[in-house]
Amino acid sequence: MSWDIVVIGAGPVGLCFARALAGSGLRVAVLEQQPGSVLENPEDDGREIALTHRSHRLLHDYGLWPHIADENVATLRDAVVLDGDDEQGLLFSHRESGQSQLGWLVSNHAIRRAAWQALQAENAGNVEIIDNARVAHVEANAHGAKVRLADGREFAAELLVAADSRFSESRRALGIRADFLDFGRSMLLVRMRHEVPHDSVSWEWFRYGQTLALLPLHDANTSSVVLTLTRAELDALLALDEDSFNADIACRFDGRLGQMQRISACRQYPLVGVYPERFYSTRFALIGDAAVGMHPVTAHGFNFGLLSVDALARRILDALQHGEPIWHERLLADYDAEHRAATRPLYLATTLVARLYGDDRPPAKALRKLALGAGRLAKPFRQLVMHGLTHPDEDMPLGGLRKWAMRLRPR
Ligand SMILES: Cc1cc2nc3c(=O)[nH]c(=O)nc-3n(C[C@H](O)[C@H](O)[C@H](O)COP(=O)(O)OP(=O)(O)OC[C@H]3O[C@@H](n4cnc5c(N)ncnc54)[C@H](O)[C@@H]3O)c2cc1C
Repeated sequence: MSWDIVVIGAGPVGLCFARALAGSGLRVAVLEQQPGSVLENPEDDGREIALTHRSHRLLHDYGLWPHIADENVATLRDAVVLDGDDEQGLLFSHRESGQSQLGWLVSNHAIRRAAWQALQAENAGNVEIIDNARVAHVEANAHGAKVRLADGREFAAELLVAADSRFSESRRALGIRADFLDFGRSMLLVRMRHEVPHDSVSWEWFRYGQTLALLPLHDANTSSVVLTLTRAELDALLALDEDSFNADIACRFDGRLGQMQRISACRQYPLVGVYPERFYSTRFALIGDAAVGMHPVTAHGFNFGLLSVDALARRILDALQHGEPIWHERLLADYDAEHRAATRPLYLATTLVARLYGDDRPPAKALRKLALGAGRLAKPFRQLVMHGLTHPDEDMPLGGLRKWAMRLRPR
């Protein structure tokens, strides 16, 4: 069967990309290995996604937002970063941003379900989601792209788009090299009720030997707790009985949230960052985590995924309108340049932060304190970060700085 575009992966990014092309007249197939029942009603995977104002706008544009139930949305008013036994921390306050909140927290499964529903509601018949479709072989050259499924079915397309996760098999099959960074730690995600209300403030607490995050949820006394430890330490924690587990987590937060109680299953994710040397090759483009696999500490993976959808879909629709090929090398190279400029600085900064604040040796500890203290003093720095988070047209926290630096480049 022949298509204009074949997308591999119906994760949140693959579905948003398909939704961005719904109604365009392009024939789009989305191939997903999971069954349709899972796409329609995805299981809660524990992830709470912090969304910037730009992402919020894009989710409106793609028609997802009305499909997200209120109880799956939480206000992210302020964010605090703490180091060691620091009491004060570095506060990113909405007041310095000129907005009523820094962002939103939305459950990942709610985003996935909303993307599916938006596509069902607004698909003009040009997008087909093909479930139980595990891609086993891909090829792409100047004449077109081909995909073969594990069950032998074949699909031909003008353009192949990979949204098949940070461990993208199609990226590897088509020879795009990628830097993988294994942080040697895993994240444990669990929803907890706590005595002291969260006040819609998120915490990132770089303690010694562990990193804790607290993500406020819709209910004032419920948060998602994210714990970064070695795999062995997580296993030991998970072996505790219920009361000991609750007491252990409350103690990790120094009792600042009062008593705590687990109200969900625990989920684990290995910490691996991925950045490929390019986001395209002939008739092939990468989006979502297949393009940029972020460490979650700066909460930007899906935000970047939406940027990749926007940057690629915009160019494809523009080419279509002007009667130009949607797979043209120049179009893909322009997409690559835009997405690289939007993501590379924060990817590198995130890696640096994760390494520095995961290091407990005395010189690193001193540097950690120094960096946080400098952030406290430097109001312009905080405002720059918050402008990136809260401006609906800004593509990343340090976007203002990047644009400013571009203007200073010699021409
Ligand atoms: C703990 C944690 C917290 C996070 N917090 C945030 C946050 O606060 N803010 C934020 O912006 N981001 C966050 N992220 C990142 C965010 O979850 C990801 O960026 C996002 O889910 C990526 O979506 P995706 O569609 O690109 O990939 P995925 O969700 O990985 O989906 C890939 C899809 O491709 C399918 N697939 C793979 N291989 C094949 C194949 N061969 N054939 C057919 N189908 C295939 C898979 O089944 C899957 O459905 C977090 C991530 C983690 C792990």
